[in-house]
Amino acid sequence: MNCNYLKNLSKFLLLTVIIIFKSCTNSTPNNLQEQEIQNQKIIVIKNVNIIPMTIDNKIINGATIVIDNKKIISINESIPNGAKVIDGTGKWLIPGLIDMHVHTNADINFRENAPTQGATFFMDTQDVMTPYLANGVTTIFDLGSRVEHFGQRNEIAKGEIIGPRMALAAMIDGRESNGRVVETANDSRQAVRSAKAEGYNFIKVYSSLNIESFKAIVDEANKQGLKIVGHIPDAFRGNIEEAFVPHFDLVAHAEEYAKQTENKTRDDAKYFAQLAKENDTWLIPNMIAMVWIGKQARSLDDIRSLETLKYVPPLLQNKWLTSNNYNNSSSPEFIAYVDTLIYFQKELVKAFKEAEVPIVAGTDAGTSGVVSGFSLHDELELMVEAGLTNEEALLSATRLPSEWLGINNKVGTVEKEKYADLILLNANPLENIKNTRNISGVFVNGQWLSKVKIDSMLSDLAKRNNESKDKYEWKKRKEY
Ligand SMILES: [Zn+2]
Repeated sequence: MNCNYLKNLSKFLLLTVIIIFKSCTNSTPNNLQEQEIQNQKIIVIKNVNIIPMTIDNKIINGATIVIDNKKIISINESIPNGAKVIDGTGKWLIPGLIDMHVHTNADINFRENAPTQGATFFMDTQDVMTPYLANGVTTIFDLGSRVEHFGQRNEIAKGEIIGPRMALAAMIDGRESNGRVVETANDSRQAVRSAKAEGYNFIKVYSSLNIESFKAIVDEANKQGLKIVGHIPDAFRGNIEEAFVPHFDLVAHAEEYAKQTENKTRDDAKYFAQLAKENDTWLIPNMIAMVWIGKQARSLDDIRSLETLKYVPPLLQNKWLTSNNYNNSSSPEFIAYVDTLIYFQKELVKAFKEAEVPIVAGTDAGTSGVVSGFSLHDELELMVEAGLTNEEALLSATRLPSEWLGINNKVGTVEKEKYADLILLNANPLENIKNTRNISGVFVNGQWLSKVKIDSMLSDLAKRNNESKDKYEWKKRKEY
């Protein structure tokens, strides 16, 4: 045994003692300062008016709400020491909004599929999600999902990105589109089972399915515990009753009904509402997308002057302005047709409301003119114009979609134990639905984004998009 060994041993013991001592002091539970630092993650909104969107929806005036570890832990109970306090005086708290029809931009391969070839064009997930959060949209339902959308959802789950909750639907169609193609009942059932194995909870049915395939998909999806959303296939034209089979759960556009009738009368709307009611098929009116089709069919000026275009990925901005199919293939007849659809979709909303068919809000965000997040507020206004009350419009983007998606135990209302997906508003949306735009801050999964933070995220995004705007042309996308 030599001296060095002893020296080293005593060094080692000393170090061990220091480490033990240090870790003891670090974990002393009674250290007040420690506790206060820890409590900083607890957020309290004081003196706020809560619109809970529960079934009785009784407004709680001047409430104190405590948010900790992602959840609402109390309403009008004691306030923990050292928590961050937000003054809610004169403000209104509503559940975070749910957009039930989006097409999220994600990494994509614009070239041919080839061994070892991944995506050729990349989307910054934070940039894609920021416009939703800035508008208080805390859950989205993507109706044309790919494996890349699972990746986006994981980035959010890992906390690398701040984003909304994402529900994903697998598209199945009868001819080559961006989904799975089926032509027989057997293929259809297998497509549903495969989608389930891939991790989907929802199936989107599309326009070109034949009758046999459509019915097999709906039946198999029900057996597998997956819900159905989508179009009414063209094969049912003149025979719409046949499409209303049990578990055809949700129609993705009012247009799907409008396409079924030449005359588009009020009685037609009532008849469709009755069919939907009897089959428990809910409706996404998706009016804003049609309004934008009408604008683009006339001219691209409204897109050019769109204040929120700067938040759209530059490649998409270029597509909307240089490869716009609604504009390129427009005609006076097409414009007249779209105008009747815009009129009739409001008649449908009225009739579905009267028949008490649940209506949920969706925008088709990602399609030309329809900007993520911002468009949901446009849709809510259109719903009120069509005859919903302000409260019914809010319901269509909060509790009702949370119920349809099966996440109403987590979000959709402002209640104790729910996740803190919330919007703090400067004015009462029950008085004027436009007030949903007047945002003071947003909670997403318990994380607070103040108006200042939101504005800086948006201006950063606009700046970056502007800088790279001239780099991308849609027509050259295969070269990227
Ligand atoms: Zn869509």
